[in-house]
Amino acid sequence: MAIDISQTSPAQWRYISEGNVTIVFSYNGPHHPTFTGKALRIRKAPRETQGPHSPFQGDLAAFQQNVLPRLLDPAYLPDLQTVPLQANWVEVLSKQHEPFRPQERRITSKVDCSRRTAVLVTDLIGGLTCAVELKPKWGFLPNCLHLSPETKPIKTQTCRTCMHGHLKRTEGVNAATQYCPLDLFSGSKARLETALGGLWDSWIRFNGSINSLRIFNHGKVVLPDDELTLRAWSRETFSLPTDAPITSIKSSFINSLLLQILRTPLLNRISSLQRSLDSLDCEGLAKLIEISPIFDLTQPTMEDWASFVDTFLSPKHQNHSDFSPTNLRYHSLSYALSATFKDCSLIIPLHSDWADDEHGDNIKVVDLEIKSVENIPRWLKLDQRIVNEYAKLEQTMRKSCIE
Ligand SMILES: [Zn+2]
Repeated sequence: MAIDISQTSPAQWRYISEGNVTIVFSYNGPHHPTFTGKALRIRKAPRETQGPHSPFQGDLAAFQQNVLPRLLDPAYLPDLQTVPLQANWVEVLSKQHEPFRPQERRITSKVDCSRRTAVLVTDLIGGLTCAVELKPKWGFLPNCLHLSPETKPIKTQTCRTCMHGHLKRTEGVNAATQYCPLDLFSGSKARLETALGGLWDSWIRFNGSINSLRIFNHGKVVLPDDELTLRAWSRETFSLPTDAPITSIKSSFINSLLLQILRTPLLNRISSLQRSLDSLDCEGLAKLIEISPIFDLTQPTMEDWASFVDTFLSPKHQNHSDFSPTNLRYHSLSYALSATFKDCSLIIPLHSDWADDEHGDNIKVVDLEIKSVENIPRWLKLDQRIVNEYAKLEQTMRKSCIE
């Protein structure tokens, strides 16, 4: 039976957060067998004045149901289903909740009221007492096979995320963190402490505006300068006294995440997918494009994705991943899928009794959007800019990121 969202009033939903593609509302009404504990992801549309580029919008539900579970243990994927939307319902929702959206988002985008469907998902943030959202980013150093003599020593020493952070800082983006993903992905307790400590420090320094770490308490974002909420969160989540110094909140935060991250195989799997799907690096892909007669940037259908995954997982994989113009389409899809995993986020629940093993592995992976292959030329240019800027640094100033 189809789910009828108009059984609820738009006022019974609460604005939670948004990315470039979707806005998320959490059900906040009286107990309902279908909607309690659920969130609604609705597509966004650009404001008319903001150029012609609307983000690519694929069929996320089909992608999450048919493609991703073959690559990632479905236990890590939130449940989701497509639900119909009525025009007047979504218009009222959009109007009522517009004031709760951040100003900088409101200038460029709005709820896409022309959409007749949305995605209903498990409410991972509002449904938990405390949830931490981590965006791990690129967890590997590139295959050096196709790197030029100039970029090879740079790209094999400093990871892509650290180099990109440097570019952002030279461009005046303040909230670029010093955090290295290779520490987070390392599986080593000491390095994980460094990664989480670095994220926490950046979170404090930029008052929660970094995109690699967000903290939610009862569905509401916790901000470092909101002392009252911060204290309430640390008391409830870590059983700390209200006057606990910020350093003890930091160490409770690190310790509670540490155990969960150390015992999950998830990070290992994500970095291995990122790496194996990006087997040529941008430079290899650029070379392959150069020698290929056709560079097809048509967005793959769901069947194309399914058939790509068939090949990727098959023992014949090797024939299709050779560096040959006949395989350019394979590598284009592969690179776009790698980008999906490079941009995903983890939702990690935090409990006051975090040392208790019984909680098991409750981490979920979100933001697994389909990336458009049309982005490839832009990604290749960005890669060049990142490495060119980093090359200007003296050798001694370059970071050593260890895999
Ligand atoms: Zn790094």
